[in-house]
Amino acid sequence: MMNSVNSTKSVSEKNAPRRKGAKPVTTTEILDVQPTPLALLLLGRAADPKSERGVECPGELPAPSDPDLVERARAAKAKLGERVFVLGHHYQRDEVIEFADVTGDSFKLARDAAARPQAEYIVFCGVHFMAESADILTSADQQVILPDLAAGCSMADMASAEQVAECWDALTEAGIADVTVPVSYMNSSADIKAFTGRHGGTICTSSNARRALEWAFSQGEKVLFLPDQHLGRNTAVREMGFSRDDCVVYNPHKPGGGVTVEQLREAKMILWRGHCSVHGRFSLDSVEDVRSRIPGVNVLVHPECKHEVVSAADYVGSTEYIIKALDAAPAGSAWAIGTELNLVRRLAKAHPDKQIVFLDKTVCFCSTMNRIDLPHLVWALESLADGTVVNRIQVDEETEHYAKVALEQMLALP
Ligand code: SF4
Repeated sequence: MMNSVNSTKSVSEKNAPRRKGAKPVTTTEILDVQPTPLALLLLGRAADPKSERGVECPGELPAPSDPDLVERARAAKAKLGERVFVLGHHYQRDEVIEFADVTGDSFKLARDAAARPQAEYIVFCGVHFMAESADILTSADQQVILPDLAAGCSMADMASAEQVAECWDALTEAGIADVTVPVSYMNSSADIKAFTGRHGGTICTSSNARRALEWAFSQGEKVLFLPDQHLGRNTAVREMGFSRDDCVVYNPHKPGGGVTVEQLREAKMILWRGHCSVHGRFSLDSVEDVRSRIPGVNVLVHPECKHEVVSAADYVGSTEYIIKALDAAPAGSAWAIGTELNLVRRLAKAHPDKQIVFLDKTVCFCSTMNRIDLPHLVWALESLADGTVVNRIQVDEETEHYAKVALEQMLALP
């Protein structure tokens, strides 16, 4: 059985921030709240301590209208000096990225943090699973801080430890667990990474998914790909020559995953029914529409997009690939980008000689990433500067051990 320990550390009452004037929320209240619908959680109106979306962040936050916020962030960071290292994920707001010591995708940032042992505090401007990964990869002396505990990831939330354990039981009953290798996307909770390590699998990123799958198929006959069905399908079908019929989708909300034992036995790729709520929004219509509006436009999308979108695009690649492709693009070229809007806006600003547009007509930020704003960052930095560690993300030892096994397997991929 897999470990179902929830690695999210609850925030203590003393250290918990709240907007000025808001009623303090006690730890008991936080723990008593029942899981609530996504929309409410995204608005930070409720809490689910078992969720990747974390818990509500009550506490004394500076007002967003405070004109001194930038100065306060600078002063707190200067006071902390080398003791703090601020990581900024590519999808973060500009106001937060301004204070990042380094930017990148989640795995790069976690490794950057590990390479800075003198930094006692790692302030992770990203989402919860990223802070967990940083805690796993950094030393025991380094403390990882997530400025807003409600910054989770809806995709990572789509695969809970209990659901994955049930799925594995179904594979065992179907007699295929011993020939199935789990491959989990970096965008998953520490529990799911630990499940992967326990069952001889590997983690992958959107840059090395193909290598991870090739390795997995050299170890077994089937892959259980968690939690992003699109990255799994796109890699297997587009890059490795599998057919769509080689893939089945396991739906954790249906009995037996909504698939028959025969389907499980015949499948090569068992895809978890998860997706990114940001990249999942792009559609074939968005691609056709932008092509009709901008003749000659290059459509460049992230592999978390749906298969039909990826198939209709000109280029497909990870966030780092997108950044490099635009750096290398000739002046005057036109690009429609299918990834998170904060990054697309920054890229458009950085390349005024190229026409860079967002692939969809509707605004599409990652709402949970956007929860890390300047007031939360100021609050976290000032608390640390005053000697109070807030919003620490700490993965328990056993989960960390097995998650590391899976992460190290990724680093050892041929
Ligand atoms: S962009 Fe998608 S995968 Fe990334 S944190 Fe947001 S919901 Fe999760």
